[in-house]
Amino acid sequence: MSSNTDVQLIKNGKRLSGRKLEDLREIKIQPGVLDNADGSCYLEWGNNKVIAAVYGPKEAMPRHTQNPLKAVMNYKYNMAPFSVEDRKRPGPDRRSTEISKISGAALSKVVLLEKFPNMQIDVFVDVLQADAGTRCAALSAASVALADAGIPMTSLIACCAAGKIDNKVVVDLDKPEDNHGQADVPMAVIPRTEEIVLLQMDGHLTADEFKTAMRMAIDGSKKVNEIQIQALKEKYQGELNGD
Ligand code: UDP
Repeated sequence: MSSNTDVQLIKNGKRLSGRKLEDLREIKIQPGVLDNADGSCYLEWGNNKVIAAVYGPKEAMPRHTQNPLKAVMNYKYNMAPFSVEDRKRPGPDRRSTEISKISGAALSKVVLLEKFPNMQIDVFVDVLQADAGTRCAALSAASVALADAGIPMTSLIACCAAGKIDNKVVVDLDKPEDNHGQADVPMAVIPRTEEIVLLQMDGHLTADEFKTAMRMAIDGSKKVNEIQIQALKEKYQGELNGD
């Protein structure tokens, strides 16, 4: 993020990728891609590629982590060393710890954890290729993987960012926009109620710009949610039909 746009990112009303201000990148979602997880999902979002795996609910270990009132949600976001241009040092860092913490908290708003006292639910998301917006891609995939695992939830969670580039509010920033833009606001919502379960902000927006960004991110999340539902329907209706 830079305080002023140093690269022209919008020309003739179009972004460098050819998108309009309110356009999302193309999203593809495939649930149930891993045999050895209880639930899984592969998701492509523009040039981002992520895979989510869910294990559990199972007895929480070590035992001192058990909560007699509800399950523990363990969310692990990991960026593969080869996912970015400059090789990333393997293993956890402050950024991945932060993303894991807030994403787990967001999912805890919809997963019925109290149905599984003393248990744990593990959600691992690996970023295979990164092009900005990976926390949104990861969380949107994790939500589908939880549904694929049959874990009871009040809703799916859908995620999308909005931000500011060339003094204009836009949705779903890609890497050049993230690098040279002025603000990035990733958000996760419960689509039906529009309840916000994750919100972060990098950069600066005026109050009016923030309102516009929030609306755009919520609308973007709802589009993501339609794709999530469609992907789950295709898999499970297909299975019911014996495909
Ligand atoms: N990135 C990188 N190396 C890192 C972390 C991030 O190259 O160690 C890139 C990657 O493309 C990522 C983007 O910077 O998608 C934006 O990162 P940010 O922390 O804003 O998270 P994201 O937008 O992916 O949720």
